[in-house]
Amino acid sequence: MCPMEIRCSGCGEVALVRAEPVYEHFRRTGEVYVCTACGKRYATAEEMVLVGPPPKPQVFTDADREAALTMFDDDERQRCCGWCRHMILSPFGQRCGVTNRFTDATNLCESFEKKADGETG
Ligand SMILES: [Zn+2]
Repeated sequence: MCPMEIRCSGCGEVALVRAEPVYEHFRRTGEVYVCTACGKRYATAEEMVLVGPPPKPQVFTDADREAALTMFDDDERQRCCGWCRHMILSPFGQRCGVTNRFTDATNLCESFEKKADGETG
């Protein structure tokens, strides 16, 4: 028989059961079902609480996927200091020409002004 999964009333686990033949005077009279977790025996299949395979969790819906794709359009991505005309590259580090503070290329800045195309530094 196919392996069956049950919610065992003996140990409370979801466990596989296996069928064991029952012999009486060397004659097979039937089967019992044995919990593989705790060994509890069930005389009939009706006594067991069968559980099906767990439903596959669907983590991402289509809506989520679309949101992730549109979260960063190009405008948004280019509002960081790496794209800003105020960004000053010096041997000592990256500096913002407006706040005069050291900054990072990935920083988002309020005084952001996009570098003109082709402009350097
Ligand atoms: Zn059990």
